Amino acid sequence: MSGVTLKNVVKRYGDVQVIHGIDLDIADGEFCVFVGPSGCGKSTLLRMVAGLEETTEGAMMIGTRDVTRLDPSQRGVAMVFQTYALYPHMTVRDNMGFGLKMNGHPKKVITEKVAEATRILKLEPYLDRKPAALSGGQRQRVSIGRAIVRGPEVFLFDEPLSNLDAELRVEMRVEIARLHREIGATMIYVTHDQVEAMTLADKIFVLKSGYVQQAGAPLHLYDDPDNQFVAGFIGSPAMNFIPAKVIGQAEGRLIVRPDGEDDVTLEAKTTGAGLADGTPVTIGIRPECLHPAETGLSATVEMSEELGGVSYLHTRLAGGRPMVVERRGIREMLEGRTIHLTANPADIMVFDPDGRRQR
Ligand code: ADP
Ligand code: MG
Repeated sequence: MSGVTLKNVVKRYGDVQVIHGIDLDIADGEFCVFVGPSGCGKSTLLRMVAGLEETTEGAMMIGTRDVTRLDPSQRGVAMVFQTYALYPHMTVRDNMGFGLKMNGHPKKVITEKVAEATRILKLEPYLDRKPAALSGGQRQRVSIGRAIVRGPEVFLFDEPLSNLDAELRVEMRVEIARLHREIGATMIYVTHDQVEAMTLADKIFVLKSGYVQQAGAPLHLYDDPDNQFVAGFIGSPAMNFIPAKVIGQAEGRLIVRPDGEDDVTLEAKTTGAGLADGTPVTIGIRPECLHPAETGLSATVEMSEELGGVSYLHTRLAGGRPMVVERRGIREMLEGRTIHLTANPADIMVFDPDGRRQR
């Protein structure tokens, strides 16, 4: 069994703390993704698991072994980086087998392991080529192959698709998902791209400024975010946020008035415990949860993105806030018009002044 457990892990560079006491549990065979904006500490945390960065405080287990102070080579991990770092003068075959050769494995074993990785990654046609004669996607497959031949307990990926163009990224994403299904090893994957996180992960850890904001299954984070940061980070187009004030409570509902919308009230399904009338809050509504109504938010359509099956209306509310509305199956030209929109109480989230979700 080789899950990964981090206990109160801290990283400091001198006086600068970049990882603030992170606890996490990754089950054996789980595909876990660290996602967050640039600079939030994803690579640092991953490199700490790999042993490439020293852990300042806390403990790290892989399976039942405490690896906190072990060298990278003793941890049973293999890492794939954003830049492929292949040896330019070696063939694909030799690039994949080189690590094993350096560690003194017999030729027969190397040949078998390279053949297995080649099969998994469908690299047969390229075995005798040098990296210069490969596309970006093929090079990244070779560097994944290099990780596979080592037979690690845990695979670590640091933004492996960020150097590829959009189309190839989607293709490689599917390949990595397939690889996980076939190999079944524990994988930790770092990305700033929430779509990659949503499509690949069994479990996502959302990071911000060296703290875990929330952990859970992709759709759990989408449906039930703990705070405004997670709500805004997961989902594309992003959730709309509108500043508002509490104006009353009804059974299980909070009545709010969006700032600058004197005639509009919205009801959100929340107990709103402790939010007195007049409290400033932020309400969050996803683009697909807004629908036309007789009354409700009045929004002027500034631009409409027509993608065929779906359209995104970029609107502006009377109070001046932008709001994106998703529409399906309707292709009416609405640019320049003012429309009225509302959402079901269960689809309106409420965040307190500190960004905490009020359930
Ligand atoms: P991410 O991968 O999420 O973009 P990093 O893990 O690379 O972020 O960086 C997290 C933070 O740690 C950043 O603020 C970065 O400036 C800082 N950092 C990374 N490496 C060092 C270092 N060697 N010395 C000082 N600060 C560092
Ligand atoms: Mg990084």
